[in-house]
Amino acid sequence: MNNPSSSSAARPLQPATLCIHAGTHIDPATRGACSPIFPSTAYAYPNATNENIYPRYFNAPNQRVIARKLAALEQGEAALVFGSGMAAISTLLFAVLNPGDHAVFQADLYGGTHHFVTKELTRFGVRISFGRDAAELAAAVRPDTRLIYVESPSNPLLRCIDLAAIATIGRAKGILTAVDNTFATPINQNPLTLGLDVVLHSATKYLNGHSDLNAGAVISTSAVIQRVTASAVNHGGMLDAHACGQLERGLKTLSLRVRQHNENAAEIARFLQGHPAVERVNYPGLVDHPTHAIAARQMRGFGGMLSFELRDPGQVDNLLSRLRIIFPALSLGGVESLICVPSRTSHRTLSIVERREAGISEGLLRLSVGLEEAADLIADLEQALVKQ
Ligand SMILES: *Cc1c(COP(=O)(O)O)cnc(C)c1O
Repeated sequence: MNNPSSSSAARPLQPATLCIHAGTHIDPATRGACSPIFPSTAYAYPNATNENIYPRYFNAPNQRVIARKLAALEQGEAALVFGSGMAAISTLLFAVLNPGDHAVFQADLYGGTHHFVTKELTRFGVRISFGRDAAELAAAVRPDTRLIYVESPSNPLLRCIDLAAIATIGRAKGILTAVDNTFATPINQNPLTLGLDVVLHSATKYLNGHSDLNAGAVISTSAVIQRVTASAVNHGGMLDAHACGQLERGLKTLSLRVRQHNENAAEIARFLQGHPAVERVNYPGLVDHPTHAIAARQMRGFGGMLSFELRDPGQVDNLLSRLRIIFPALSLGGVESLICVPSRTSHRTLSIVERREAGISEGLLRLSVGLEEAADLIADLEQALVKQ
């Protein structure tokens, strides 16, 4: 077993090194550099540790490789890997909330999470409130509040929540705090070091990074992960060994990829900001973004996601049909640039008034900036925008 994250060296290893080495299972028989894939669902029992190894118990070797790597990257004590981001999120919420409990959520949650908490969690007697920023979330806290749950940056306007402020509220009142760190990745932001209790990921996005598998993760203290595991074995949302192997391969280049996503997105944000057909660009790295100051305090890089509004919303379809490299699709965080129209996708079920309140106009486009050459992406946008 190779676990440099627990090495006693005085200087902590940097994320690029952890991406490659943390958690790797070195096979003693062959000493191969990569973790072997262990597909078994049956393991000899009793064995030396008297632990019943079974994939649905989340304790199979390849699941543990990913868990160790993600715990190291997020600087948590332990982690659990799931078959999707939603499996991670729903299992966490079932594990830490009881009927009658109150939980406070960020208003502009990822669509799947919003649907789960409003349509499912409430059926089990959990009471919910929403807030748009740290002050509103704090104001929503009641004596029976057991959880504060946020996302930063948010979808699709890339608003950042002051995570240290959320942690302070949680610590002062003994309320568990959780953050979906999917957009930022552990390369750009480590919420546990800011005092948050739990980090969640849709590993489908940047962690795997190649738009070819669904996975999720929860990272926290050993005590919280034990609680989540006890619930997870009942819900059964684990990731199989082959997918773990594929995710491990993706994770090895996470640091390298995210640094390039950051650079490409910053260049494209600047280009779009200077374009006459563009009304507004939402990117936390731009100094005029409403939450730039928060982002600059808590992030090491501003990420690969941005959104922008066309001056003429009637031009959205023309733009989409002219793009040659940037691909019109949902999802995000892969090597290829993807573009979508939130008013028609993630926010299509809202009324026009609700959408306006949420700041999602018909002319808003969300861009997941990929790893193509930035100059090629800019040229693609330029030729698609220019005819307006
Ligand atoms: C995609 C996504 C999820 C859900 O993840 P799945 O892997 O699709 O289940 C949760 N949160 C955020 C921010 C996401 O982008």
